[in-house]
Amino acid sequence: MAAPDLDALLHRLRDEGSRVTTARRLVLAALVDAGGEHPTAEDLGQRVQASNPEVHLSTVYRTLDSLEHAGLVVRAGFRGSAATYHLADDHHHHARCDRCGATVELAADAFAAVISRLRRDHGFVAAPHHLTVGGHCRDCADS
Ligand SMILES: [Zn+2]
Ligand SMILES: [Zn+2]
Repeated sequence: MAAPDLDALLHRLRDEGSRVTTARRLVLAALVDAGGEHPTAEDLGQRVQASNPEVHLSTVYRTLDSLEHAGLVVRAGFRGSAATYHLADDHHHHARCDRCGATVELAADAFAAVISRLRRDHGFVAAPHHLTVGGHCRDCADS
């Protein structure tokens, strides 16, 4: 994906009717910085605190909630591990190994065939966002 632009994100936040607070700006900047990683709230807190030690972790949590409500941030839970966050524009899915926990990032259209089948067979318009598919990774499937 193209590198997200912090100014554009802040603009959207304003369009959503949300105030651009210092904490929101810092958390969004930390998410942009994190690139395609899936930082936890704590990771993001550390990034924010590196430059702004006065920002509390509880503020980071609250800010993530409000950014999620505004539709800018997606919270992605992997079973058995802390919730992670990424920008909503970073559209993708995952396959995750049930045995060793390795994750593979899948393209946004990875489930196109399933989606069209759901529509055809059930009239269901699926809009999966950040699906995680379980199974076994290459290493674990071989052993
Ligand atoms: Zn993801
Ligand atoms: Zn594995």
